[in-house]
Amino acid sequence: MTTRRSFIQKFTAPLLAVPFITATTECQADQSQDKILRVAIMGLGGYGTRVAEAMKDSKRAKLVGVISGTPSKIKAWQSKYDIPEKNCYNYENFDNIRNNPDIDAVYVITPNALHKDQTIRVAKAGKHVICEKPMAVNAKDAQEMVDACNKAGVKLLIGYRMHFEPKTLEIIRQRQAGDMGKILFFQGLSGFRIGDPTQWRLNMQLSGGGAMMDIGIYSVNAARYMVGEDPVWVTAQEVKTDPVKYKEGVDETITFQFGFPGGAVASCLSTYSMNNLDKFFVNGEKGFGELYPASGYGPIKGRTNQGELTHPHVTHQTVQMDEMAAIILDNKKPIVPVDGAEGVKDMKIIDAIYMAVKTGVKQSISLS
Ligand code: NDP
Repeated sequence: MTTRRSFIQKFTAPLLAVPFITATTECQADQSQDKILRVAIMGLGGYGTRVAEAMKDSKRAKLVGVISGTPSKIKAWQSKYDIPEKNCYNYENFDNIRNNPDIDAVYVITPNALHKDQTIRVAKAGKHVICEKPMAVNAKDAQEMVDACNKAGVKLLIGYRMHFEPKTLEIIRQRQAGDMGKILFFQGLSGFRIGDPTQWRLNMQLSGGGAMMDIGIYSVNAARYMVGEDPVWVTAQEVKTDPVKYKEGVDETITFQFGFPGGAVASCLSTYSMNNLDKFFVNGEKGFGELYPASGYGPIKGRTNQGELTHPHVTHQTVQMDEMAAIILDNKKPIVPVDGAEGVKDMKIIDAIYMAVKTGVKQSISLS
């Protein structure tokens, strides 16, 4: 296969000649990094489109296939991304991907409640899976996905793009270096005003819940990587102002609180009815870190007690795909895990949040 690097080497070497021998040698030494992750996207919707566009700039991942229930989208994507007919599937026949040696991984970007079955089918077809968040609609389903991927010997990664975002990683670095001292408090605010009441996000059968599944999960996940521990208890309260739009099982607003083994506490908000809520704040005995906006597509803005974070903006999905290719192809270890087990932890916490809302009782959380 002609990779981007070998293409560059082949066509630039004669021009560059002697003075650049060192650079060429470095390229050759680096050839283990040359392998490209060949990806098929399942679900050609809003986020699938964003990932496809971002993948154009990825050095390690390439869009080579599609799985879709909409023939017109398949046609459009074929011509836009130069995808051959043999790499196009629908939801009925995508198990045949097992016979396709030109696809390494499938990125599942469909409504939440479909992730489980689709991930398990992809795993059974022998392909690695990248699955969007929330990985499932509860921890039991999430664990079944992990088990199926383990059994099939394929990797399962969850689309946690913030785990690769530079300002986020800098706050984690400062906390790990002890710059903030003992961590005492985390605040997570995750929300936006959702529009169209007929969309799948407000249909329990497809979403598995409401704002918590969709956006609240960012505060759940961030509480863990900002504090550096997993919560051991949760209390939670729900407020519903519009029971017609937010039907049974679809949460509009939930406030929730965590306790951590080291004594830190967290206070978080998840909502579908307020804008300007995208903020993470971690506070320790010696310092603090703040991201606002914290999880949008960027630019992310942030500061710590040491000053403003000035890392340049990166397209999250491009970096994510580069890093995920390295995790899958080179066994690279990410700073913050993005594997299925990490996703299961968030689903266990979300299960506990919903249980705390339902019962009004503080829930213990055990993630081991
Ligand atoms: P969209 O509604 O824009 O797209 C979903 C796509 O899934 C559809 O276009 C369709 O594609 C396919 N699909 C298959 N079955 C159904 C069905 N029964 N109903 C509706 N669509 C179906 O959703 P998003 O792209 O916004 O979200 C998809 C997933 O990505 C969700 O899990 C969401 O949480 C996650 N997401 C993650 C983000 C992130 O930043 N990490 C941001 C946004 C979303 P087709 O016609 O090709 O079959």
